[in-house]
Amino acid sequence: MQREQILQALYDMALVTSGEVHTKPLILKTLQRLLFHTAYPCGLFLSHIKEINSHQVSAHLEQVIGNAILMQQHHDLITLPKELLVKQSSLLDDATLITNAFGKGVNYCTGLNLVVSEQEQFLLLGLRAPNTANIFTHIFEPVLKNFDKILKLTRENERYTQRLEEENKLRKELEESLRASHNFLQNILDHVPTRIYWKDTNSTYLGCNKLFSQDAGYTSSSEIIGKTDYDLPINKIYAEQYIKEDRSITQSMQAKIHEEERYLTAEGQEEWYDTSKIPLADHTGEIITLLGFYENITLRKQVNKKIIEAKDEAERTNHAKSLFLSSMSHELRTPLNAILGFSQLLETEDDLSSGNKEDVQEIIKAGKHLLELINGILDLSAIEAGKIDLTIEKFPLNDVITECLALLKPLASQHNIHFNYKTNNDLVIEIKADRFRFKQVLLNLLSNAIKYNKENGDINISTLLYNHANWRVSIQDTGIGIPAEKISELFNSFDRIGAEKSAIEGTGIGLVITKQLIELMQGVLIVESEYGVGSTFTVQIPKA
Ligand code: ADP
Repeated sequence: MQREQILQALYDMALVTSGEVHTKPLILKTLQRLLFHTAYPCGLFLSHIKEINSHQVSAHLEQVIGNAILMQQHHDLITLPKELLVKQSSLLDDATLITNAFGKGVNYCTGLNLVVSEQEQFLLLGLRAPNTANIFTHIFEPVLKNFDKILKLTRENERYTQRLEEENKLRKELEESLRASHNFLQNILDHVPTRIYWKDTNSTYLGCNKLFSQDAGYTSSSEIIGKTDYDLPINKIYAEQYIKEDRSITQSMQAKIHEEERYLTAEGQEEWYDTSKIPLADHTGEIITLLGFYENITLRKQVNKKIIEAKDEAERTNHAKSLFLSSMSHELRTPLNAILGFSQLLETEDDLSSGNKEDVQEIIKAGKHLLELINGILDLSAIEAGKIDLTIEKFPLNDVITECLALLKPLASQHNIHFNYKTNNDLVIEIKADRFRFKQVLLNLLSNAIKYNKENGDINISTLLYNHANWRVSIQDTGIGIPAEKISELFNSFDRIGAEKSAIEGTGIGLVITKQLIELMQGVLIVESEYGVGSTFTVQIPKA
């Protein structure tokens, strides 16, 4: 080989390797030039060469030129005998080794192994070794070194570019998902039926929802960004007030929640707002944002005002009605007492015929019923008008129960009804209540237990300490019971829930009075009943 030829080959190779920045064309062009200058017909570039065992290596067939069969394995990972790939550039003169290495159809007898690095080699194959073959292992040495350097650089460059591209793609995806979640949040905020905004710690708006931007006179919520309350179409006094308040909230870190605020419009109209402001901190605990929201509650306020006025008016009317009833009942009692008194006198007259006597008894019965009714109405209206005076005192519960039972014994006996009351006399149970009214309560419940009981029925009276602070007195009867759906009607005035159709006398206001009296004495009335089985009325009253 002539000196000029060598120089030309080297120059040519240097030219090829220097201009290329991509791995694939760099390898291809270098391989082409190597084949050209050596006159071998087939060439391979093997990378990632790794030892499998003491006889074999694996390699990546990264580039092939000049053989159709080998080209099919292009980019494959192939296994080769270890002797084929050596550590130093050398001439291969073993036809069997080469043929066996690549299998049928690849019949080369000679080869040139040009080592680039430990893991990369060019392998040039041919049928006949050029007589200058040996020389190539030396003259291409600097070229291969240079190729190795450039290959490493281009690979690194490609890896770097690929990483950059991946990062770019990731950033774009991230930006896209951020934009999507921002749009989603803004969409939610725009559909919340309240005005929402957020500011930085200098009271500069960072964003708001659609309703707020409309209130502030803007068409889009982004227009608010960078503005302060001074830029909004509100009175400067309010702007100053809001900014001052923002500062105090962010400094004190104290949120303001659902405060009602009065606002006067430029036209002097009064408006009301339900406003909240919440300071928001970042992960270090430093306040970075002020979140605010408000609702115009002018209409609600006006309606509420009207409701309160109507309620006051209703209460006044009710009070007047109670007063009227109370004085009316009072006035009615005097003549009624006279009617009852004279009828009772008349009943004792000896010369009264039996027919007349029965008539007089009817007058007395009706008069008593009327008196009971009037007394009830008097009590009820006094309670409703708040005109009932209670004297709360301490007294033994047992005493009142015994007194009531003694009073009602004759009525119970008439119907063969038995009282079962077991009391532990060692234990003095004391309660706090108005003694007279408490007795009225027990009498009403006990007389109901008699009236609505069955012949030969029982009434069980028991006491129980409840919650350490109260005593409970239960009056359980074995009577007709109350249907579940009627229990809620028990406390409607004059509603006898069907008893009006029976022969049992009553007015339908006893339980209403009883319940109200118990509640006035800080107690509770509890009703349990099973239709056809019996009822239990429990009075809970504070312990002394
Ligand atoms: P009344 O004067 O009619 O007895 P109350 O207000 O005392 O009025 O009771 C209202 C209604 O509740 C009664 O008419 C009756 O239907 C029902 N009631 C009250 N106590 C009992 C009870 N122990 N058992 C069954 N029903 C009862």
